[in-house]
Amino acid sequence: MGKIVMLTFDVEQDCPPFAETRRGMEEGLPRVMDLLEEFEIRGTFLFTGRIAEEFPELARRAGKKHELGCHGLEHERFDRLPQGEAERRLREAMETLSQFGEVISFRAPNFQFPDEYYGILAKLGFKVDSTKARHKGWRRGVMELHGLLEVPATTTSIVTRLPWALQRGFHRRFESPIVYIFHPWEFVDMPKRLRPDCWFGTGRGALEKLRKLIEFHLGNGARFMTLREFYEEYQKLKRTRG
Ligand SMILES: [Zn+2]
Repeated sequence: MGKIVMLTFDVEQDCPPFAETRRGMEEGLPRVMDLLEEFEIRGTFLFTGRIAEEFPELARRAGKKHELGCHGLEHERFDRLPQGEAERRLREAMETLSQFGEVISFRAPNFQFPDEYYGILAKLGFKVDSTKARHKGWRRGVMELHGLLEVPATTTSIVTRLPWALQRGFHRRFESPIVYIFHPWEFVDMPKRLRPDCWFGTGRGALEKLRKLIEFHLGNGARFMTLREFYEEYQKLKRTRG
């Protein structure tokens, strides 16, 4: 059976907190959406509330043609915020994002979200979390966790910025469901004065690699899904199994 592949995009300012520019949204994201739509693939675009306010057309497009999710209010570290403040910010992000579509999926900035804050997510209507990540030491697969469905991220976006010949082997080995993480700023040339992981492998070539990745998985019979579609299928399976 073909693998399930989820393309997720954390939609934030350029390489936070190291840059304050928005070129990812101005130049990168429209190209990414064009590419996915060319293949009739839906991606999951996890916006910060602020970026959705600044780029309503992109948020609307994500909500209409893809899945719109949440990546915090302004890319804050939730593990450094008291619970009340975390809730206030998530509520504000949810209010903004809901104008552009129903939001049920979340990924915390920097993969940092305290376990005891999951109750806030459930209360605000989130159903899927993709904050846990293999490259951050999470070793378990998809599971129900603190009232949400945890769909762990498979790999850091550094892998998908390697030369294609080098990254190909990874894609073959990754276990289904594969959850990739990308950022809009990876698809524009990021300045070399920033730290290397902000510019390594960024630019036009990144879009070509994304195309190759899509073609590679399609060639192997993979099924592309959004986090929401995966959640819905998981619920359906659960009901059938009783
Ligand atoms: Zn982020």
